[in-house]
Amino acid sequence: MTDHSATLAERLKGINDRIARVQARIEATTPVTLVAVSKRQPLASIRQALAEGVRHFGENYVQEGVDKIKAIDRDDICWHHIGPIQSNKCADIAAHFDWAQGVDRIKIVRRLSDARDPDVAPLNICIQVNLSREASKSGVAPEAAAELCAAAAELPGLRLRGLMAIPAPASAGGDPRRDFDALRALYEQIRVSAPGMDTLSMGMSDDYEHAIAAGATMVRVGSALFGPRQ
Ligand SMILES: *Cc1c(COP(=O)(O)O)cnc(C)c1O
Repeated sequence: MTDHSATLAERLKGINDRIARVQARIEATTPVTLVAVSKRQPLASIRQALAEGVRHFGENYVQEGVDKIKAIDRDDICWHHIGPIQSNKCADIAAHFDWAQGVDRIKIVRRLSDARDPDVAPLNICIQVNLSREASKSGVAPEAAAELCAAAAELPGLRLRGLMAIPAPASAGGDPRRDFDALRALYEQIRVSAPGMDTLSMGMSDDYEHAIAAGATMVRVGSALFGPRQ
């Protein structure tokens, strides 16, 4: 929930404190990366977060993201594309973003790799898994995730970092804690044959503490940090 009376700096501190508290409770050994989801937030908010030390930003819409990346124009930021990926947007994602987290089919894997400039670092990717199997949601079926990870790990333009999911929230009848545990288990299983994987991206404004308790190494938080979207 957004605390409207607080400043961005205060909300950020609150989020970082909560992350640290859960990590201490579970005696976590790996740090958690906070991705500030800045979709439909103004540039001024991104600049404020930057001033507070945030360096990872998440955008869903390719054109909006590219416009912001160009306007901010700093090379010490990691820009994450976190939404569903249309094949005609792969070139723009590969050209401008550092990470793509909504990768869920082989055609997208190949296009992103082909489009990545071989003179820059490979594009970091997370394979998105559809845990609740809702027809409307993107993501590869859990049983097909290992094969897609193996294919992605082979390609020169990509660096396979891990798995990502967006469980149906409790408010929509889902069971996010069960889904977080299921994604963690799948991640550990796939990591046996893909030891380069180091990222389990799960948890948003309403449930990031549960996600960290279940082993998330990356959380994607938008409205709890920036307030409601425009
Ligand atoms: C919008 C979005 C978020 C952030 O959602 P909040 O509830 O505002 O924290 C995280 N991940 C993805 C994939 C999103 O689309």
